[in-house]
Amino acid sequence: CMKDGAMTGSIAGLKRFTSPVKGRGLQVTRPFKVGELLFSSPAYSCVLSVKERGSCCEFCFSRKEGLARCGKCRKACYCDLKCQKGDWPMHKLECSAMTAFGENWCPSETTRLVARILAKKKMQKEPSASEKMLLIGELQSHLEDEDNEKREGTEADIAALYRFYSKHLEMPDHKDLLTLYSQVACNGFTVEDDELFQMGAAIYPDVALINHSCLPSVIVTYNGTSSEVRAVQNMKPGDEVLISYIDLLYPTEDRNKRLRESYYFTCDCNECKTKSKDNAKVKVRKRSDPFEPQVISNMVRYGRNSIREFRFKCLNSLARPSELLEMCEQSLEEMGAVFDDSNVYMLHMMYQAMGVCIYMQDADGAIRYGKKLLKPYSKLYPPYSLNVSSMYLKLGRIYMNVERRSEGVSALKKALAIMEVAHGKDHPYIKEVRREMGQK
Ligand SMILES: [Zn+2]
Ligand SMILES: [Zn+2]
Ligand SMILES: [Zn+2]
Repeated sequence: CMKDGAMTGSIAGLKRFTSPVKGRGLQVTRPFKVGELLFSSPAYSCVLSVKERGSCCEFCFSRKEGLARCGKCRKACYCDLKCQKGDWPMHKLECSAMTAFGENWCPSETTRLVARILAKKKMQKEPSASEKMLLIGELQSHLEDEDNEKREGTEADIAALYRFYSKHLEMPDHKDLLTLYSQVACNGFTVEDDELFQMGAAIYPDVALINHSCLPSVIVTYNGTSSEVRAVQNMKPGDEVLISYIDLLYPTEDRNKRLRESYYFTCDCNECKTKSKDNAKVKVRKRSDPFEPQVISNMVRYGRNSIREFRFKCLNSLARPSELLEMCEQSLEEMGAVFDDSNVYMLHMMYQAMGVCIYMQDADGAIRYGKKLLKPYSKLYPPYSLNVSSMYLKLGRIYMNVERRSEGVSALKKALAIMEVAHGKDHPYIKEVRREMGQK
């Protein structure tokens, strides 16, 4: 590949830009076809989620059997000595503290990532990466936009940072810490597997340059701890590189609320202007005398509340799985009086219900919900959506598990068609799915 050796901070075929309206962003300087790799980017810093501990290597995020445990804490797991050695500069921040604090060791994932960034900053003076377009210090922060609730959350995180990490870190002053937390909140990536299951969190400065659109031109996937950016639309020189920061299932108003709350901007992409999918997304049942607008907007409010309530109960472990399932069924019944089965608030609760069924190993229940989700998902998400491929993958794997092979293979094939574009044909996930299908 050609490298722009003379210019520091560049990747062939891509250019960083700054505009008065959009701020900074990334554009292509040559054509890219659907499925083509724009660039891949190693993590500046990353951390494996606590719940993945034991199933994945803490260093390379490989999911496999027979990982070896750290002899000191007996918690962190590794492929081999090489991975363990590679991880030690970061793992040592936590190894002895986890033993010392025992059950009380509970920093948030953000705090764990911040600790690693601080350690990394100390280890290497920054301007060394000649191929980096954006340096970690240049990441955007929105400190001045944060409300009290957010600030309180960060203060609690900072207290935990001092409590669990001060032995190993020189802490910067308070203002700098607040800024770093804000940078991580706006620029951090959730590393997800092929089923969109959260594996960890990471910082990819170059990917953080990419602006948002509800009609993204590229998609980010993960290969180990690296991120890969591939085109999901044919691009011509000068086109902006755009990813989606959020779940695109929801109608325009919901998407922009989410963008304002988390990223402090309102989207003005074509989909946000035309709202072309909003009617399909909030589809109501067909009746001879149509519903009053008031009835529909009340039900939308009910749907949003149900989503919030469900999330709250899950996050705080306030309900048993059977209670969660009942909650889903109840709200589906309530909404079903007004909403069509393809309405996104219905789909959201069906998705949650499917997750609970999978957790409870109720294959029939999971299949029942999964089947209902697929068609509307394919229609409401943009083409080559990971939400759609992961749904085909989940359903396909359940079918294979209960020996419904032909249905399984057919679902896995649909997943592959999307993943070959999003993940690239040589991704380990693709090989794994082919193996599951009984192909080479
Ligand atoms: Zn490893
Ligand atoms: Zn350890
Ligand atoms: Zn938009």
